[in-house]
Amino acid sequence: MFGRRIGVVCCGLVFLAALSGCTDPSPGELVASLGAALNGRADTQPAGPAASLNYPVRSKAWTFGNVGGAKLSTENYNIFTTLPTGTARQNMPAFMEAAHENYLALTGLTNQADLNTKLPVYLFADRGQWAALTEKVTGPAAPIYLKVQNGGYCYEGKCVFWYIGTRGTLSVASHEGMHQFLHHATRQSLPIWAEEGLAVQSEGFQMREGLVRFDARENHSRWSTLRKLLMTDRWRPTRQLVAMSAAENVEESGLTGADFYAQLWSMLLMIRSDPQYAEGLRQLCRDAAAGTIREALEISPPAWGRLQRNAQAYVEVVGPKAFAHYIDADTDRFEARYRAFARELANMPEVN
Ligand SMILES: [Zn+2]
Repeated sequence: MFGRRIGVVCCGLVFLAALSGCTDPSPGELVASLGAALNGRADTQPAGPAASLNYPVRSKAWTFGNVGGAKLSTENYNIFTTLPTGTARQNMPAFMEAAHENYLALTGLTNQADLNTKLPVYLFADRGQWAALTEKVTGPAAPIYLKVQNGGYCYEGKCVFWYIGTRGTLSVASHEGMHQFLHHATRQSLPIWAEEGLAVQSEGFQMREGLVRFDARENHSRWSTLRKLLMTDRWRPTRQLVAMSAAENVEESGLTGADFYAQLWSMLLMIRSDPQYAEGLRQLCRDAAAGTIREALEISPPAWGRLQRNAQAYVEVVGPKAFAHYIDADTDRFEARYRAFARELANMPEVN
């Protein structure tokens, strides 16, 4: 049973807008900058192994209304698609299986708890088909999800995408797939900073010569946004970041929420580069999987019950408490290290 999960605001609305803004810095700059920032620490968060895009798939006929399609089954996924046969349809099952391996590596979990459930992914050829299923899947929440303009979302453990080009579709799938994995692998929700942070860590990948390799550092869009927010002094301190929701950020910025994700990207890279912090993050994931976060944070059952009924209160209370317990109780010390790490990552070291 996975009944007591707090509703996490899906980030699809804000995440996608963030992806479209890759501009100034070149990939070469990114590699050089990341190399400098992660110098000597890269071995603590290596890129995952390369996985072949040639993955054994069981294919059956499937229809959506009167549209013919296929159900593609792999070890961990059922992918329902109306995409015609071609590279994109062919790559999706192997890509999701490689992403699944990456989710296990990023969370430190050994597998999703409900091993008998294959994770459902819908990949439609066009937005019209996507919208038709979205109305069914999200019910009363449909008006919100129908605002998604580019790619798709994960809702209560189901991923629903439409094809926006191979790279874009896979980028969305790798991020939203982490939310789906966590939905099925945990009994309690992670705090937003950890959930969205892990989803953003899942985005980076390289695909070439029939292989895919995930590497959280390979994320030009987040890096570019990080630079811009540092240049324009829009940096949010840790204390604020760990108590924020994605929705709050959107309302605040009126735009995309891109800053929130760029900061979480750099924060989780920093956490994963430090063995003690990285172990704290893994322990948080283990406790979420076991459903023991309440006990770990010493929150009484009645108070926990109240938090479960109020998503905003959950974000504001559990976010900072979990950060202090699992990562660092000295937020000022963490903030100094985090800011220095982010500036170095953005190739903008602090001038003393
Ligand atoms: Zn997300």
